[in-house]
Amino acid sequence: MHSKDLSRRIFIKDIGLAGLSIPLLPLHCDNPGQKISNMKDNKNKLGIALVGLGNYATGQLAPALQETEHCYLAGIVTGTPSKAINWKEKYNIPEKNIYSYENYDSIKDNPDIDIIYVVLPNAMHAAYSIRAAKAGKHVICEKPMAVSTQECDEMLAACKAAGKTLSIGYRLHFDPYHLEIKRLGQQKVLGEISKINSSFSFVAPKGIWRLDKRLSGGGPLMDLGIYCLQAVCYTTGQVPVAVTAQSPPVTDTDKFKGVEETLDWQMEMPGGLIAKCRTSYSENSNQFRAETTKGWFEVQPAFGYSGLQGRTSAGKIEYPRLSQQARQLDGMAQSIKNNQPSIVPGEMGRRDVIIISAIYEAMKSGKRVEIKY
Ligand code: NAD
Repeated sequence: MHSKDLSRRIFIKDIGLAGLSIPLLPLHCDNPGQKISNMKDNKNKLGIALVGLGNYATGQLAPALQETEHCYLAGIVTGTPSKAINWKEKYNIPEKNIYSYENYDSIKDNPDIDIIYVVLPNAMHAAYSIRAAKAGKHVICEKPMAVSTQECDEMLAACKAAGKTLSIGYRLHFDPYHLEIKRLGQQKVLGEISKINSSFSFVAPKGIWRLDKRLSGGGPLMDLGIYCLQAVCYTTGQVPVAVTAQSPPVTDTDKFKGVEETLDWQMEMPGGLIAKCRTSYSENSNQFRAETTKGWFEVQPAFGYSGLQGRTSAGKIEYPRLSQQARQLDGMAQSIKNNQPSIVPGEMGRRDVIIISAIYEAMKSGKRVEIKY
């Protein structure tokens, strides 16, 4: 427990507001003209530094960190000085909490930063997560955890050696629609699952790092297909024993040089269920559907940040709009504060990288590949 947490807890208890979710005034406010995010009292919150200020960090994580109750945007790590200026201004980030990739390791001396969130291209996840652990910080790393199982092992070892937690940015474990299909599937509410079909695809523009295998580690499977793979695992409560995969002929050989364009794969689950999945960078799709012995359930659209729609043979699944990322960040921060294990730990990220590697092996060999974890 940090001393700042303790003082804040006592403060809340003493004034009897523990049950209220109203924003409280800060204990110290040196500058009454401060911007909104710093006007909130961050004393009981864990400080997060985002590494890599691209689309996801800018469009989703930073806004979500303005809503969170257990963590806040304390710092940034960026290679682009103009971004540092804009973010400093927009989120009132103190100069001392702004790092470049060069001086990143000195973040170890900064007590404002409790958690480092790596939001870089996939092939950079391992190096920046390991440096975060060596700096003595908890780590959140975006999906896919890394581009090889060996990298995953190194990340897990670094976090273990540092005594810090490692979570993967699997936001859908905090989304009510996905928690509901997990419940329906695992508790067999509509009977046993007999079939699963899932796909997630979008049309990728030319020239992005996602099409460069050195940075992405792979194509849409690493980026989008991983959501289908995950949903199969959490709705069944199982991991596949074997996979098969087929990649149709590439339609744009100029664009898809190093990574697959489209991939169909099948996951053989322990009871014999075959889950059928598809991902592509040349079409649009976004759905999950399970047939069960007593009906069916589905989410479509399934994997976006909002606008999810759920249906079952017994009726609609409906929840109010919320920020998946705010729930994810708060959930992760709470588990750290309470010394509880992450619900999306590095081990789960490693498991998925093993499944992805097996799918690629099956795609290349045309054979059924058994998976050893
Ligand atoms: P992006 O291209 O928008 O941002 C990447 C960031 O990395 C940029 O700030 C870029 O400047 C920086 N960078 C540093 N070195 C780089 C290099 N050598 N090449 C390219 N960029 C470099 O990507 P993004 O969509 O924000 O994705 C970042 C990570 O977040 C990926 O791992 C992705 O899978 C993940 N992501 C997760 C979700 C989710 O819903 N959980 C959504 C989108 C992206």
